[in-house]
Amino acid sequence: MFDLKNKVAIVTGARRGMGRTHALTLAKAGAKVIVSDISLEGCEKVVKEIKKDGGEGLALKCDVTKKQEIEQMVKKTVEKWGKIDILVNNAGIVEFKPFLELTEQDWDKTLDINLKGYFLCAQAAAKEMAKKKSGVIVNIASVAMGQQGIGFPNIVHYCASKGGIVGMTEALALEMAAYNIRVNAIAPGMIDTPMVDPVMKDPQQKKGILARVPMHRMADPQEVSNLVLFLVSDGSSYMTGSTVVVDGGWLAG
Ligand code: NAP
Repeated sequence: MFDLKNKVAIVTGARRGMGRTHALTLAKAGAKVIVSDISLEGCEKVVKEIKKDGGEGLALKCDVTKKQEIEQMVKKTVEKWGKIDILVNNAGIVEFKPFLELTEQDWDKTLDINLKGYFLCAQAAAKEMAKKKSGVIVNIASVAMGQQGIGFPNIVHYCASKGGIVGMTEALALEMAAYNIRVNAIAPGMIDTPMVDPVMKDPQQKKGILARVPMHRMADPQEVSNLVLFLVSDGSSYMTGSTVVVDGGWLAG
């Protein structure tokens, strides 16, 4: 059920953090994986790890704010492996700043990467998926998505982008169902990646955050990748338009 043999996957922001473990996990399940990131540095290393495990991977530079680079990535994927079955929209940034100091440039930078980038990648991949009437898209949101999620101070723009991803996922799922393309989102809690180092290296902040998480620990990135694997596999064949939380009980607390 979780076998991805003969599947072709693209993971964005895959040179480190969760993107790296998503790429390794999908490759281990048999998928051929495009390991893409804003810089090639690190992507090649992930591909080496994939190949060491007996899998297939290809490193491609792709800045998700650049439509042309996304189109090139899709073109090169199709040239190499003939199709795209899976897209994991993962690339993202978080930059901390009090709201009253937030500039239009700060806002645009975060929204361009975290939300517009997801749109551009989803559209480019979906155009290929639609041709063969089959595909799966997973969008990485966050518990900072609002509504049933949590708001965080000093990252208003990040929270807006993550809420946007959830809305986009639902609307996209409706439209893409006609093409047999499933679209779901994941809302991770506190995951041990370089992104959260600045916060979690401060003992005071770390203590405050983990006190709110019933499991009192961060997740290993692999614990999110396991969910990615489920959502891109036939195991989740009746799921589309959902946002699945993986947060150690944070939102339930
Ligand atoms: P990470 O370790 O910082 O990895 C993110 C990757 O995305 C980095 O390699 C980064 O490159 C890349 N990236 C940044 N801008 C890009 C662009 N324009 N085009 C392509 N790639 C770009 O972060 P992570 O924690 O693994 O986060 C992965 C996703 O999970 C993000 O969407 C994040 O918002 C989400 N998330 C994380 C947590 C958490 O606790 N870690 C919780 C909830 C949601 P650079 O290193 O050059 O910036």
